[in-house]
Amino acid sequence: MKKADCIFCKIANGEIPSKTLHEDENFRVILDLSPATRGHALILPKEHYDNLYELPEDTAARVMKLAKKMAVVMTEKLQADGFNLVQNNGETAGQTVMHFHMHLIPRYEEDGQHIGWNPGEVTQEELEEIKKKITE
Ligand code: 5GP
Ligand code: ZN
Repeated sequence: MKKADCIFCKIANGEIPSKTLHEDENFRVILDLSPATRGHALILPKEHYDNLYELPEDTAARVMKLAKKMAVVMTEKLQADGFNLVQNNGETAGQTVMHFHMHLIPRYEEDGQHIGWNPGEVTQEELEEIKKKITE
């Protein structure tokens, strides 16, 4: 299903033009308009899913396969020094466009970006409690 008024549905299905790096039956890969680094791109499914929770498992598997292919090609062609895959779900996690997408971010020495988090602290008891909560 496509969602009316969803900008990524329109881009993914070619109604709004984009700098497309790859297109197949299920996905379009486009260059991000506010790139974190040179070559920052997005994998967009052509169907609308708000986020990872809604994404069917087989589509999720295809996304990862495509991300791997794109990372290899982009790293070689752009002579990147590393690569981040980033995928945000929900406003709290930094998602601003509510159509599932995977960020492909080539990294370069001294690109000035910081993609990460502040390391926290945790006790063994807390780790055990969290583990139980998730697995039991
Ligand atoms: P999010 O924060 O939701 O994970 O990422 C949304 C991304 O989409 C951002 O990196 C933003 O720059 C990009 N973006 C938003 N609107 C457009 C657009 O119209 N075209 C393109 N190519 N990228 C967009
Ligand atoms: Zn959409």
